[in-house]
Amino acid sequence: MGSHEENLKGNREYAEHFTLGHLPTPPAKKLAIVACMDARLTVEQILALKTGDAHIIRNAGGLVTDDVLRSLVISSHLLGTRTYYVIQHTDCGMLTFTDQDLRDQLKAKTGHDASHLHFHTFSNLEESVRKQVETIRNYPFLIPGTDVHGFIYDVHTGKLQEIAEGEACAASLSS
Ligand SMILES: [Zn+2]
Repeated sequence: MGSHEENLKGNREYAEHFTLGHLPTPPAKKLAIVACMDARLTVEQILALKTGDAHIIRNAGGLVTDDVLRSLVISSHLLGTRTYYVIQHTDCGMLTFTDQDLRDQLKAKTGHDASHLHFHTFSNLEESVRKQVETIRNYPFLIPGTDVHGFIYDVHTGKLQEIAEGEACAASLSS
């Protein structure tokens, strides 16, 4: 059986035992999470969340792009979230190539000029997490005073490490 058929069979089985039709739209934990799309991160499992608990916004890297900010505005103003987590992770694919590498590859594979495309690759994980947190904190259209936390998830241990602001945190990470 091919993977597509397997997936659809999986849904039929899921729907047979489905009991979550009563859930309201606003997330029960008033939490929104921005996380990398990496297949090794099951965000709900990492934080022991249940369906209905949180908004989970995912993309390559777990980066706070314009589209993520769009989702966070809706999440906070219309659906009541007040805590935001950014979760990036060790061994992230985004650390392994540059925007230019991928542009060159696309040009070679498709024949189309890709020089206008941005992939937002990064070379320092901790710095990237801080940058995403700052972007959320500084965005003027979110609700002031909301809680924003940044984490690195270790794909080999399953542990989350919180990335604090400033120098103190860099010291604790290297120890
Ligand atoms: Zn990743």
